[in-house]
Amino acid sequence: MITDLIKSIYWEVLSYFVPERQTYEIIGECTKCGKCCENIYSAYMYTEKEFEFMKKIFPSYRRFYIKGKDEFGNFVFACKYLKGNLCSVYDKRPRLCRSYPQKRLAVYAKMPDGCGYTVVKKSFEDYLKKDKEN
Ligand code: SF4
Ligand code: SF4
Repeated sequence: MITDLIKSIYWEVLSYFVPERQTYEIIGECTKCGKCCENIYSAYMYTEKEFEFMKKIFPSYRRFYIKGKDEFGNFVFACKYLKGNLCSVYDKRPRLCRSYPQKRLAVYAKMPDGCGYTVVKKSFEDYLKKDKEN
């Protein structure tokens, strides 16, 4: 009995490393509208003081400025390097820009209105179906 319990815990821990556990995928393609560079949200900054502090720790954050707040009171940031719809420092953009948008997400995220990407929810059954098709 204790062996079964240890096995269950072992398999549960392993399951956290299976990518298919993710429940959201981003599909589509970039239309180069530039909206993501002027509608940036952060899960870590709630006050202007925190933003100033983050800029000291992470120099790449200095490119961002507070554009305003959304209807829920969350800060919306924009980047000073956005020129027209395009990035004026494209070859030198930081890693957070290079990896945007991540193709798989553990929690729901909204793409900017008009973005060429869409966030779709993937259930466990969807992954089973995909495996059967392959
Ligand atoms: S908002 Fe979406 S479509 Fe527009 S530039 Fe950003 S990633 Fe591309
Ligand atoms: S550095 Fe370029 S890609 Fe990154 S937010 Fe600014 S304009 Fe957008």
